[in-house]
Amino acid sequence: MTKFKTKTPNNFDIPRRINRLGELAYNLWWTWQPQAQKLFSDIDNELWERLAHNPILFLRQANRSSLNEAAQKRAYKENYNQVFANFDSYMAKKGSWCDDNHGDFCEKTIAYFSMEFGLHETLPIYSGGLGVLAGDHLKEASDLGLPLMGIGLLYAEGYFSQQISETGWQDALNNPLNFDDLPLVPVMDENDKAVKVSVEFPDRQVSARLWEVRVGRIPLYLMDSDVPENAPEDRQLTARLYWSDINFRIAQEVLLGVGGVRVMRALGHNPGVWHMNEGHAAFQILERARELVAEGKTFEEAIAKTRTNNVFTTHTPVPAGNDEFPLWMIDKYLSSYWTELNLSRDEFVNLARNQQSWGETFSMGVLALRHSDGKNGVSELHGRVARKMWNFLWEDKKPADVPIGYVTNGVHTSTWLAGRLGLLYEKHLGADWLNHLDDPAFWDKVDEIPDNELWEVRNHLKRKMVFYMMERTRRRWMKGGFHPVQAIASGALLDPYVLTIGFARRFATYKRANLILSELDRVLGLLNESNQPLQIIFAGKAHPADEPGKELIQEVYRAVKKAETGGRLVFLEDYDMNVARYLVQGVDVWLNTPRRPNEASGTSGMKAAMNGAMNFSVLDGWWREAYNGHNGWAIGDDVAPDSESQDESDIKSLYATLENEIIPLYYERNAQGVPVQWIKMMKNNLRTITPQFSMRRMVKEYAENLYIPAVK
Ligand SMILES: *Cc1c(COP(=O)(O)O)cnc(C)c1O
Repeated sequence: MTKFKTKTPNNFDIPRRINRLGELAYNLWWTWQPQAQKLFSDIDNELWERLAHNPILFLRQANRSSLNEAAQKRAYKENYNQVFANFDSYMAKKGSWCDDNHGDFCEKTIAYFSMEFGLHETLPIYSGGLGVLAGDHLKEASDLGLPLMGIGLLYAEGYFSQQISETGWQDALNNPLNFDDLPLVPVMDENDKAVKVSVEFPDRQVSARLWEVRVGRIPLYLMDSDVPENAPEDRQLTARLYWSDINFRIAQEVLLGVGGVRVMRALGHNPGVWHMNEGHAAFQILERARELVAEGKTFEEAIAKTRTNNVFTTHTPVPAGNDEFPLWMIDKYLSSYWTELNLSRDEFVNLARNQQSWGETFSMGVLALRHSDGKNGVSELHGRVARKMWNFLWEDKKPADVPIGYVTNGVHTSTWLAGRLGLLYEKHLGADWLNHLDDPAFWDKVDEIPDNELWEVRNHLKRKMVFYMMERTRRRWMKGGFHPVQAIASGALLDPYVLTIGFARRFATYKRANLILSELDRVLGLLNESNQPLQIIFAGKAHPADEPGKELIQEVYRAVKKAETGGRLVFLEDYDMNVARYLVQGVDVWLNTPRRPNEASGTSGMKAAMNGAMNFSVLDGWWREAYNGHNGWAIGDDVAPDSESQDESDIKSLYATLENEIIPLYYERNAQGVPVQWIKMMKNNLRTITPQFSMRRMVKEYAENLYIPAVK
């Protein structure tokens, strides 16, 4: 075991009285603490916004007089003391849920592997829902005191940022990240040399150094292959969250899976649970079996032993969505494994053999499912779909008996809830409302919040979102090269008092972003209906290699540019966690129109719901579980016909509900201008969705149903 250390870089020149801000900047705990965020924004709000909420850059660039001034203000100092008192007691792990309920288990280590982590907009190592789920999982594991460690890759260029050209085409910009500006702490050994792991590639070794990201009490270790001893192409291996080239993909997955095990070993950890968030990390199974065979176990003993500790979460409801590699690539990258495992090539391939129309493959999903005792999908429906889809691996079983369960996804409340709503809950539900987060009975108290107070906060949040979009548009306009119609397309004419629908997510074709635009003239009419107008805001990136996804953006953008929209159809560029926060907190209605059952769960609708936006969605993924007829609206019904007739009936249902129910309900006001019936529904929505779809409920389920059994 290497002795290792992670020393917080402290190269800030800030007044002594407030110098722990430097420490806070290196622990993402601040990202889910509104009071801690205020410690930065109260110094210089304009700079804080301009630097996109990056506290490290902020502390370097804030001018000395603003820092001094803050350090002398009484209110600032009081908040400072309070925040650090909270931080210190949080980090000391006193009275955590884990300790109080599961004593010994809390001393084990859970290794949590993911190809992407969405923790904050300043660390763009995520592309969408999978990554944000992983980031939220780490935050909640920290809150609950679970002994979890994250393992992933550090992408030198992050995920791309998106610009939309005047013709609606997505341009992907890849800018190198400056690690020095990010909350990354290098992992060093006792001689101040970087701790490294290495993995065998065809005819060579590839090394990676390690960085630690602190997520409250949880460390996330990221591997970075850009080290001098690697060949130039291997130094590029972690350049991008890059899944389109199959060569890069297998190489990244070898690094993640095999390298990830070696990270744990290098740091002296012996995890009792190995959780794979999607199949990308499944090679870890082979590496751990190899370790045991090297210790003298037979292959059968070794693989049986690893199986008990493995937890695999599948996120894909369609066979084509799973990662698979042609066998020649397996020969190229993994031939040393079958010798070391004492297997023939054929026996080795059998561990994960699958048949595709284009030939035989080595399937990461099959590898993980066959060799994990804990297996789950991410919603009830997805569990069912997964059992059917993988039935061929358990030929003697009926679909219902296939051993794949489900844990429905959730979202980390403190990350996604608007600060103002948090204050309202404090006032009416009690100062300790966060301790009751996943207790459905507690949320009945929502009914006691006065309608006008809730409505006031909702209006504030929508104004905040609209002004944010206008300000972004203004700054973009001032940079030049922006056609006036693009300024209008990005929100210059939005109105903070109009019923607003949000649609923001990855632009994959099955999500049918254009469904609501199917009858464009009808929509144009609704946008400009004089007494009850409507606005629709779109945002989302398409994977750079997904041409149909990019064409879909273009199609939406063509509609957005039409003069007849009155500026009320908008496409917001560069969807990320920051934009997502504004949207889920600001819009009135959250629209989701996946083609069933392609949405394994979805999570953005949960973020919107807990902020008081109502979901208006196809009964797929999580919404099928959450919808009760009184807490939002369903599009279509629960049966899945063929996709063409589904499109048709969904379009009909969408327009009918929008015109006959949603719009009238929103504009029906009492004498004080409050939409009483709308708020009644909003309260149903808050009460039923906030506790049930919280990350707290989700991580407790993982702990009790999957992690604890794996340790035993
Ligand atoms: C929550 C979130 C997602 C997931 O959205 P779904 O479409 O509901 O799965 C994707 N991207 C970002 C930036 C998010 O915050």
